[in-house]
Amino acid sequence: MKKFVLRALSCSLILCLLCSCSLNQAEQGTKLNKYSTSYIEYFDTVCTVVGFEESQAEFDAVCEKIETLLNKYNRLYDIYHSYDGLNNVFTINKMAGQNAVKVEKEIIDLIDYSKDLYEKTDGTVNIAMGSVLKIWHNYRTMYSADPQNAKLPPKGMLEEANKYTDFSKIIIDRENSTVFLENSNMSLDVGAVAKGYATEQIAQALIADGATNYALNFGGNIRTIGTKGDGSDWSAAVTNPDKESEKPYLMNVKLKDQTFVTSGSYERFYTVDGVRYHHIIDPETLMPNNTFSSVSILACDSGLADALSTALFNLSYEEGKEIISKFEGVEAVWITAENEILYSDNFKDIIIKMY
Ligand code: ADP
Ligand code: MG
Repeated sequence: MKKFVLRALSCSLILCLLCSCSLNQAEQGTKLNKYSTSYIEYFDTVCTVVGFEESQAEFDAVCEKIETLLNKYNRLYDIYHSYDGLNNVFTINKMAGQNAVKVEKEIIDLIDYSKDLYEKTDGTVNIAMGSVLKIWHNYRTMYSADPQNAKLPPKGMLEEANKYTDFSKIIIDRENSTVFLENSNMSLDVGAVAKGYATEQIAQALIADGATNYALNFGGNIRTIGTKGDGSDWSAAVTNPDKESEKPYLMNVKLKDQTFVTSGSYERFYTVDGVRYHHIIDPETLMPNNTFSSVSILACDSGLADALSTALFNLSYEEGKEIISKFEGVEAVWITAENEILYSDNFKDIIIKMY
């Protein structure tokens, strides 16, 4: 397998902000050094680890564990590829309407977790929407390089596909560890939750091993453990969705054993007749909702933050505030299509700096 490990690489400015705020202990002549590594072969994104350890060898040992887990979750939650000898989400989709598929516990846990969030977000994040999301994915892939001829999926096609998005038709048998999609037109798309859920599982594994000074940035799912090497807080940046602006970031926020996850409309989209259509689909309209250009969530659990950042895209500011109030310690910042910044009640407490 093609493997690129880019040592000491700060490949995104978010990461630079994570690492750059103050002198670390190594720079002060004390014993912890800062190390970082990035992987580009998991979850179709860049996964970066920054950590403070006494030696490269200690950092490498932690990263070895992280990479093993990234590889495991990436394969299990992949909806586009199959792997020899492994039943994953792709296999479940392939066997829809035919057979129950025996899977690892981690897949059943993800589906259960997603079900709970489906209920708590009033159905606005639904992993059973694969049939509808697949159509949008195909149109986006087909036309993003050909905006002249770009078309929207026909409404009738989306409505037909939407007949097969019923969460209750995902049949889980925990005892036998199987998953069965009742109808052959059904399919799971775990894109809104899997990366965050895996990030949280990996963070929990590191915490159980005693990690105290780490920050993970898995494709924008930022999860921090403890502090930086000198005891100061980790931080993350909110990207400016307005790509015409000279300001790449809007603000910096501090994180204490927390996660910060953003869903944005500015990276995965295509344009039809001059209008942008992004990758988060509102289950009510079966269309992207253009009220916001980004929503970022602060929480303790990265799976929760990932699901909520997607859910809030499909809700008004007021509805979104109502949803997050059901969860302890969750805050949000919304950037509207008109570049207005809206906050949840206590979000301003975590802002370090506005740009
Ligand atoms: P990203 O993966 O870019 O960080 P998100 O976490 O918001 O962004 O997830 C977006 C992905 O989730 C889409 O690419 C699609 O696969 C899936 N998705 C889009 N809309 C929904 C929805 N309403 N419910 C569940 N999944 C969705
Ligand atoms: Mg998400």
